Amino acid sequence: MTAPKKKILLLPGDGIGTEVMGATRKVIDWFQSAGRTAFEITEDLVGGISYDKHGTPVTAAVIARAKEADAVLLACVGGPKWDTLPFKDRPERGLLAIRKEMGLFANLRPALVFDVLSGASTLKADVVKGFDLMIVRELLGGVYFGEPRGIETLPNGERRGINTQVYTSSEIRRVARVAFELARKRRKKVCSVEKANVMESGVLWRDEVTKLHATEFSDVDLVHMYADNCAMQLVRCPRQFDVIVTDNLFGDLLSDLASMLTGSLGMLPSASLGLKEASGRQAALFEPIHGSAPDIAGRGVANPLAMILSYAMMLRYSFNLAADADLLEKAVQNVLSAGLRTADIVEAGQTSVATAVMGDAVVKELAQLAA
Ligand code: NAD
Repeated sequence: MTAPKKKILLLPGDGIGTEVMGATRKVIDWFQSAGRTAFEITEDLVGGISYDKHGTPVTAAVIARAKEADAVLLACVGGPKWDTLPFKDRPERGLLAIRKEMGLFANLRPALVFDVLSGASTLKADVVKGFDLMIVRELLGGVYFGEPRGIETLPNGERRGINTQVYTSSEIRRVARVAFELARKRRKKVCSVEKANVMESGVLWRDEVTKLHATEFSDVDLVHMYADNCAMQLVRCPRQFDVIVTDNLFGDLLSDLASMLTGSLGMLPSASLGLKEASGRQAALFEPIHGSAPDIAGRGVANPLAMILSYAMMLRYSFNLAADADLLEKAVQNVLSAGLRTADIVEAGQTSVATAVMGDAVVKELAQLAA
């Protein structure tokens, strides 16, 4: 009996989502027709488009389908059309609900500079050249979820806003484990980031990471860094880092900082992972880091490479298809080296190409590399 096909769910979402997913779909279809993958592929709605059709940014059926899938590929949600809706109906709530329901606690954000794009960074090319970092951000805990929270009025009439930074040892250990395991497949260096100098949750974070390292991952180099210093070091000397592991709040800030070192939002993929089950199955959602770019949506000019590289991450991390992921990343690199650019990464003397042209060029390059 043949094994059941692995299932992937595609969620194009809003704005440029349909455009970048369209280009990526051609890449996915190439792998299918070349016989390199045999996924069962379905597509559904999330975000504003789901609200327009169903009155909710994500339906229970889509959440169930996402949980059942072996991996989910999502483009982006949101746009001005839905900005005045109550908070619970906003497109972003759909995305948050999927992440929460799938139990995705570890967010992997690679930031890597393609040599041919090192001129696109706001830092000097010789500082960012060869920069290849993975930030592992804790996604379901910390100050964004901690209780108590809220805004209260004090007896003297003043108002007070409250959020609580809170982590348990198991929350810290499970995300640190993801970072150490990733480092083993990279350059074997982990930098754990908190503010143990001023926060008790940071003291616990440092303690738990140190203990886990000593008992299970002593083959990996571990350093600790305060978050403010880490921000400075990322700009001063980004190449010193391999894997950074940090909490939800610091990870939010540091991963945005790191992404801009690379030049364009349109180039960067991400993955969010859940706990690995005994069977080896692990909930996983892959998405570009950019939003729905309403300023360029509908014009066919968006850069599809972040989305295409998110698919490469899916091949690598969900399906252990490292050779196929390498092939796709190589195809992207070759297309860039040949001078093809969408408007967001175009440099002086180059003309920009449309989303579809970029996607087709990657497919053509894949076919050539595989021949
Ligand atoms: P954005 O990432 O959509 O756009 C920021 C800038 O980068 C814009 O100038 C845009 O044109 C450009 N850009 C982004 N992706 C690009 C691509 N692939 N190719 C070329 N240029 C690209 O961020 P924003 O403007 O702050 O947010 C717009 C909407 O997206 C909002 O509704 C926001 O809530 C939503 N958003 C969604 C996600 C998500 O779905 N994960 C993430 C961030 C923002």
